[in-house]
Amino acid sequence: MKALLVAEHRDGQLLTSSYELVAFAQQLGADSAMFLVGSDVSLPQYDGTLYLADIDKYSEYNPAVHKQLLLDVIAKEQPDIVVFSHSSYGWDLAPRVSVALGAAHVSEVVEVVDGAMVVPVCNAKLRRQVSVKTAKTVVSLQSGAFCLSDDPEGTPTVEKIDTDAAARVVFEGFEEAEAGGVDLSKSEVIVSAGRGIGKPENLAIIEGLATALKGDYGASRPVVDSDWVDHGRQVGSTGQSVSPKLYIACGISGAIQHLAGMKKSEYIVAINTDKDAPIGEVADVLVVADLKEFVPLMTAKLLV
Ligand SMILES: Cc1cc2nc3c(=O)[nH]c(=O)nc-3n(C[C@H](O)[C@H](O)[C@H](O)COP(=O)(O)OP(=O)(O)OC[C@H]3O[C@@H](n4cnc5c(N)ncnc54)[C@H](O)[C@@H]3O)c2cc1C
Repeated sequence: MKALLVAEHRDGQLLTSSYELVAFAQQLGADSAMFLVGSDVSLPQYDGTLYLADIDKYSEYNPAVHKQLLLDVIAKEQPDIVVFSHSSYGWDLAPRVSVALGAAHVSEVVEVVDGAMVVPVCNAKLRRQVSVKTAKTVVSLQSGAFCLSDDPEGTPTVEKIDTDAAARVVFEGFEEAEAGGVDLSKSEVIVSAGRGIGKPENLAIIEGLATALKGDYGASRPVVDSDWVDHGRQVGSTGQSVSPKLYIACGISGAIQHLAGMKKSEYIVAINTDKDAPIGEVADVLVVADLKEFVPLMTAKLLV
């Protein structure tokens, strides 16, 4: 099997998420080549062919032009699978490429089982295995789902590419979300609230434990979406990525999008009424208990 990995560049730097594509190809046992609209200044550490288009000429994003650059490489490389990150770049470009190729498009892949792609469904409560019937497949990978076991290494064989495709839109730039709340990436202890807290009044329990541990509190997305906590405290693929010494997940199931933001924590404690909650797979300790009873008891012990 042959994979074409669509790496990404932002603000003059290769995005490290590009290495998740390499990890995916390794897991598939696929040979790979890489595509990047970037520059010589920040090349991937990668052993293989890198098709490189000049970012100064083609900009960080332009749908028609990037699609054509990619289609030209696909015509040359004839990959079985074209692999994107499930990022704003991938969300926009992958469907355009799959339509142009008449290829199946599997979005938000979190795992590969016996060659079949696994994607979350029902708000990540269930997982579905997808087998494709087309000759080529286009996939996008959920952030954090595939990681290299070692640091990336290697030097690519760079092949410069060009196109005369006409741009129909002008790329104006990415707008960073306003930084709000605390910078959780620097916190040594984080206590996070999930939907299991039940109601906003119970956030005080989580804040109480965080204060007792001299740490900060964070939250999963449903808690933020309910306006119980500011978005600046959301942990996960669309929130902050954190790696504290201690992460305590209270009433958090462990969806892949949440794990993507916290699984690099040194020590993970999960408090959950469900002994089979997926958070148990990454937790060093899983306390099977009602957080409303357990967390206040733990806080009281710490304050003695
Ligand atoms: C594109 C996309 C991006 C996303 N980005 C993020 C992100 O950045 N961060 C994020 O968190 N999510 C994100 N999500 C949402 C994610 O898929 C999950 O829906 C979310 O993480 C679930 O949050 P939760 O664990 O708090 O809630 P649930 O999945 O509902 O889990 C609640 C947990 O609480 C437990 N519980 C219930 N009552 C109690 C109690 N009294 N005591 C103890 N435990 C209890 C339950 O057993 C359950 O395990 C994203 C989803 C998509 C599609």
